[in-house]
Formats: sequence, C-alpha cells, structure tokens
Amino acid sequence: MNYIVLDLEWNQAAYKSVEEEDLPFEIIEIGAVKMDQNTNILGEFQRLIRPQVYPFLVRRTKQLTGWKDKDLDEKGIYFEDACAEFLKWCGNDCTFLVWGGSDLTQLERNMAYFDIKIPWKYPLKYLDVQKLYALQEGEGKVRRSLDVVAERYELESDRPFHHAVDDAWYTAQIFKRIDRKKYEDYYSIDYYNIPKNHFEEKTFSFPTYTKYVSRQFNLKEEALNYRGAREFRCRVCGRRLKKLVPWFSDGRTYMALGECPSHGLMKGHIRLKIAERFQGYFVVRTVRSCTEEDADAIRAKKEGVQQKRKDRRRRTSQKKREAREAENAKKNILQRETKTKDTAKKGTKKGENV
Ligand SMILES: [Zn+2]
Repeated sequence: MNYIVLDLEWNQAAYKSVEEEDLPFEIIEIGAVKMDQNTNILGEFQRLIRPQVYPFLVRRTKQLTGWKDKDLDEKGIYFEDACAEFLKWCGNDCTFLVWGGSDLTQLERNMAYFDIKIPWKYPLKYLDVQKLYALQEGEGKVRRSLDVVAERYELESDRPFHHAVDDAWYTAQIFKRIDRKKYEDYYSIDYYNIPKNHFEEKTFSFPTYTKYVSRQFNLKEEALNYRGAREFRCRVCGRRLKKLVPWFSDGRTYMALGECPSHGLMKGHIRLKIAERFQGYFVVRTVRSCTEEDADAIRAKKEGVQQKRKDRRRRTSQKKREAREAENAKKNILQRETKTKDTAKKGTKKGENV
C-alpha cells in the first residue's frame, strides 16, 4: 500500500448565470506526492489542465495559484488525459491523503462530468491531514491553513503555496510528523458515493466514536425521519441505549442523550447533508461517549429549545389575540357608526314626519 497525497487547484464560472450545474469547479491542476508505508517519498505527479468548461481563469484563481490563461493553454493537457495518467500513477493499492475535505469529491465530480469511470466504491476512506493535525495538537474542531501549520512545524522550503504539487508536498511533510499509531484510525469517508440502498449502510467504528451514513432520500424530512438514522446504540458494545433525552432538533442538527449500563453516557448527533452526486439528502449520525457535564449541556439545550418553542407559541397566540381584538374593535366602530347613521336617518325621517 502507498499513500497518495492529493491536491487540486480549480477554476470556476465568472458569473453564476454561466455556471454548469454539474461542474461548479473545473480542475486546472492535479498535484500529488507518493509515499510508501513508512512515509518515504517515492515520487511526485503534476499536470496542468487546459480548461474546457470555463476557458478563462477568474481573478481569484489567478491570484491564488499564480497561473495565467496562457500557462494552461500552452502547458496544459485535457482533463481526461491527465486523470488517466494520474490513476495509472496511483496504482491499485493506495490510501489518499488530503488537506481539508473536498479534493477527492471535486476530483470525482470532474471525472463524472467528463464521463470517466470512477474506480472507487463506497466507502472510500481517506485521511484528512488537516483534521489529524487538529487531533494531534488538541485543537478540536479548529482547522488551520496549510501555510500556518507549515510554519508551526518549521518546514523550510522555497516551494510556493497554492501550487497543487507543492501543497501536496507540504501536506506530506506534515503527515510525516503525525503520530500515525495514534491518529491514523481517524480516517474520513468520502461522501461523493454514498450507500445506494439499505444494505450498503454501515456503522463505522473509530477510537472515540461511531459514524453511520444513510442512503439517499429525495426529501429532507424523509432522511431525518428514517428509522435507520434514528437508531441509537452504544458505540462500544452496540447495545440499544437507554434514551435519557430522545432526539430533538436545535434547528441545525439533531441531538440525543443515552446511556449504556456497561459503557456509560453517550451523545448522538444527526446531521443532514446534501448528496453531491444526485439531488437529494442523506444523514450522518455520530455517537460518542460523554461526561456528566456534556449530558447537562444537552439537557439544557433541550430545555432551551422547549422554552423557545413555548415563547414562540405564546408570541404567536398573543399576536393572534391582538389581531382578533383589533378586528373586533374595527367591527364595533363600524357597527356603532352604522347605528349612528341609522339613528341619524331615522332622526331625519322623524323630523320629516313632523
Ligand atoms: Zn455498551
């Protein structure tokens, strides 16, 4: 098995109105570094790509990469050829490494657009070095940029940033400094291909949590209410958890709190995601062990949500009441006015009679 560190540069439509729906980002450079199992560098790969969908580089791409239209026209080859060469160079047995999450998905999107057969099936596991760095440095959900981390690890080089092959090289150097025994089990799952059906759905086990990816649904509600998505099992033994706080939504994600008699408190998260490949939705559910404090935070959140809902209901009913009262007041005034007019008319009639 070899590691392939992949990095891409891409270009996009100058205006939203000329954007190709199936290809918001067109790859203009593929860069990669190959390492053996012991992270010795075996070689580098670099191809510039002549764009076919968005022929002119937008300003941002030019500024970021330093490439000019002329460079791509003169030195670039077509994506179909570059991709074929890249796949051949990767070989059959490799693990992809990237910085941040989206490069593999973008590569697959471009492959799909240009009718290139995608050789990877669900689940395609890869290592996100940016995430591994955050884990190693205890930075939790914080994500640092490549140049910041390169500086922190004192990677001295005159290689520029934002050139695919150079960024891949920096990523490789950072990966060499990651304690692989400790962090390599924290792989990521590429979501370009998601489970096609119920039978392909799996729960993946990580050192501190489990992750489940659902198949695709047409509607948000279908995905969120799917029974498989709402399963809540112990991340260690797989037993169904006793629900202390059932699934509830804070507007963005769904949360739950449960307990396993042998493995303690666990919190669950369900996130709704947009399926890249087809227009639809799927959900990702994670279950991780938690402390009493985490549990209290979830309970407080649930109470907060309930309180908000109550307040909202109260506000709505008050508004309705006020509207009703205003309507009634208007009616009363109208009635009174009509009455006064009637009396006035009668008055005149009476007067006429007299
Ligand atoms: Zn358990």
